[in-house]
Order: sequence, then C-alpha cells, then structure tokens
Amino acid sequence: MNYIGTRGFNEHRTFSGALLDGLAPDGGLYVPQTWPTPDFDLKSASAGGYGDLTVKLLNLFGVNVLGDHAVKAAAQRTEDAFLRNGEVPLTKLDDNLWLLELYHGPTHAFKDMAMQMMAPLTDAALAQRGKKLTLVTATSGDTGAAAVRAFAGSEHVKLVVFHPLGRVSPVQRLQMTTVQADNVLNVGVEGDFDDCQRIVKALLSEPVLKQQGLISSVNSINWGRLLGQVPYYLAAAAHSGADKPEFVVPTGNFGDAFAGWVARKIGGNVGHLHAAVNRNDALNQAINNGKYVRRQATETASVSMDVQAPSNFERLVYEASGRDADVTRTLFNDFAATGDVTLPADLQAALKAEVSASTVSEETTKATIKLAYEKYGQVICPHTAVALAAALERRSDAPQIVLSTAHPAKFPAFVTEALGFEPKAPDAITDLYGLTETLTEMPADVAAAVTTVRSFIEWID
Ligand SMILES: *Cc1c(COP(=O)(O)O)cnc(C)c1O
Repeated sequence: MNYIGTRGFNEHRTFSGALLDGLAPDGGLYVPQTWPTPDFDLKSASAGGYGDLTVKLLNLFGVNVLGDHAVKAAAQRTEDAFLRNGEVPLTKLDDNLWLLELYHGPTHAFKDMAMQMMAPLTDAALAQRGKKLTLVTATSGDTGAAAVRAFAGSEHVKLVVFHPLGRVSPVQRLQMTTVQADNVLNVGVEGDFDDCQRIVKALLSEPVLKQQGLISSVNSINWGRLLGQVPYYLAAAAHSGADKPEFVVPTGNFGDAFAGWVARKIGGNVGHLHAAVNRNDALNQAINNGKYVRRQATETASVSMDVQAPSNFERLVYEASGRDADVTRTLFNDFAATGDVTLPADLQAALKAEVSASTVSEETTKATIKLAYEKYGQVICPHTAVALAAALERRSDAPQIVLSTAHPAKFPAFVTEALGFEPKAPDAITDLYGLTETLTEMPADVAAAVTTVRSFIEWID
C-alpha cells in the first residue's frame, strides 16, 4: 500500500514517507494509491476489541512498514484514549439517536485520537531512518494541548507549540504548559492565532532551520492524523446495532468527517455523512451553493471549528471528481490565488452525493446545549451542540450517531451561559491548577521565533 498526491504527485510514498512529508512535494495531500479492500471480516472486527480493530486497519493502510511493535503501540495508545471505563463511549439519547463521546483521552478533546496515534508512528518512522525531526505548530488550544501530551518524551521529535498569549482558555493553556518534558517548548506569542500561523509558516521555509534537520508540522493535512479517526466510526456503528447509521460530524478542517468517509469507502457499516459547521461556513457554501470563497474566520463558541479553508476538503474534491488530479490542482491553485472559485456543476453534484452540510448559528448552539440537558440529561460542549442541532434538524427514521468532540468543562463560559450552572470538570482538569507552568513568551515576530527555535534545537541536541 503506497500513497500518491491529490494534485498528481505520483512517486509512490510508503506510509512513513507520507507521514514524515505531511504535504506532497507539489502541495497536494496524500491519499492511498487505491482504497484497500479489507482482507479480514470487517463486520466482526468492528464489533470486537478496539485495539485489535485498529491494528487490522493500520496494517490494511500499510503502516506495517514501521514494524509490528510500532503498530501495536499506536493502537494501544489510541484505544486508551478512546474507551470510557473500558467500553465504546456510545451514549443513547433516544430511539435511533446516539452520542459518541470522543473526549476520554488525556486532554479531553477528540484531537487526542489522532495525536496519540501519530506520536508513536512518527517516532518509529524516524528511528527507522536514523533521523530527528522538529515539529512546529500553531494552536488556538486543542491541537497544541493534544500534541504536547502525545509527543512529550518522544525520542526523535522536538515539538514547538505557538499559542496566542492570553487567548486560549486557562484549561487549554495549563494542558500545554504543565507538561514537563525536555523535548517540548511552549511559546506564548504576543498576538493572535493568525500571528502564530504566520510564524509557523515562515519557520517551515526558513533555510537556517532546514539546515539543522527535518522540520514539519502536525496540522490536520497529515495522513497519519486521519488514520487514527477511522476505527471509531466502525466501532460506534457496530455497537449501536444499527444498520448503516448516519453520522453527524462537527466540522472544522473536515479531517474527522473525511475519516468517516474512509470508513464507509472500505466497506464499513456507515451510512450518510453530514458535516455540521458554525457560522464559518465555507464548506457548507461550497457543497450547497457551489461557491468556495475565502473569508476571514470569526470567533464562535465552537472555537476549534472556526475554519474558513478546510484543508481536508481537497481530499473530498479529489475523490468526488473521480480522482481527477487536474481538476483538483486547478481548483485549489485558483482558490489560493483568488480566494473565490465556482465549482463545476457536475463536481458540486458529486460532492453532494458524498456528504451533506449545514450551518448552525450561535443562538441555536446555545439552545441545543440547554435542550440536551433538559431532554436527554447530557451536558455537552459547543462543538457537540452544533452537531446535535444539525442532527435534530435532519431527524427522520434513520439511525443517527452524533460525534461529541470535547468535554464541556473545556468550554465552561459558554456552557454556563446556556445552562445557568458550571459543567463539572473531571479531576484531570481540576488537578492542573497549581501545577508548575513552563512557558516562553515572545513578540509576534518571525526573527524572534527563528532565534527561539534554533536555540531550543541546539540545546536539546
Ligand atoms: C478540531 C475539532 C473539531 C473539528 O474537527 P475537524 O477534523 O477539524 O473537522 C471539532 N470539535 C473539536 C472539539 C475539535 O477540537
């Protein structure tokens, strides 16, 4: 099983090549050269142990190039992050309606699922090549926290996380800064998230840093992140007992929803896929109106979904176009150049056949948090509320599984506004207060970032 790029890159990469590259050399995203057919009984594997299912899926996608030990370690860590008291975290709300709680990992948000898998695989890929890697990432909260927890103590990876000072929630900051690991550097930037992203982008093409070795990013275009999100669709569907349940996915970069698409593509018991977005709704506009337009993202309560150019949309376009690399390259090059493209009518129709989408307002999000509590006895986070609202709006006889992506206590302000009381935090969150924090502060300046990262790399070498 090798990997090719969505824009025509055709020198087949192994899984570890795709993992370490992140992006294909021509700017495309990696996808399997063909979608594999399971060589095992997918139905019974989906109903069996989560770790075993994950091992089988990883091997199906060529992760076995890293050896059995790495595959097992990655599957074990994903299983630990996924299970709730040893079981598939599916909560029945009503007839034919379930929540799948993806927040029982170390940072209580679903990014753990991807990062807990990616860290051991990255380490193994680097060990195999005798290389070290510096990962740099910008975060508005969840990704950075999940990455710090996952990569802390990694032998071959140095991780630098940039977050906007004072603009992530206290819980999110503490989840990053209280991890004491020599290979992790937390940087608070005197600026906003866009400043952090600009800095990371500049660092990735900084010649001085490239000379010091491999440098890459953990952002959601990486195929290694996506793979960690496929098994839970299969396990949830099997454990619901439903036939081809519909999945409603709170969507930002479309990584989670695309993982659901993969689960269905390989023959899993997955029915319709629906992407629920907040008012940053570029994806919804593309699918429903055929217009893909870049707009400034604005802050909402479901802050981890405040995305206006969803990176994994490119994978969906590639597949919906019948794997047409020319169509895909033209569309995303035009989008990069003009920020405003009209999709060909046949492509839009093909996209609609793969996945539907809808937008949920802030008022409806808040009302849905209240409804979930009053009607179903569940306290949910704003991201989950966006998906539940979209699911309820679509409700028919079809079984529905709504992905619940973060613990409500990570977003206490909005949840408290909706409910009139504060969500109860798990011990792992309350215990963070009072721990020692390690944080480097820095102006929003690329030159300062280069100096900071250089001295960190040299110090740790
Ligand atoms: C990242 C995130 C999402 C969106 O997932 P994508 O894969 O970017 O679509 C939803 N909810 C939470 C809590 C997140 O952290």
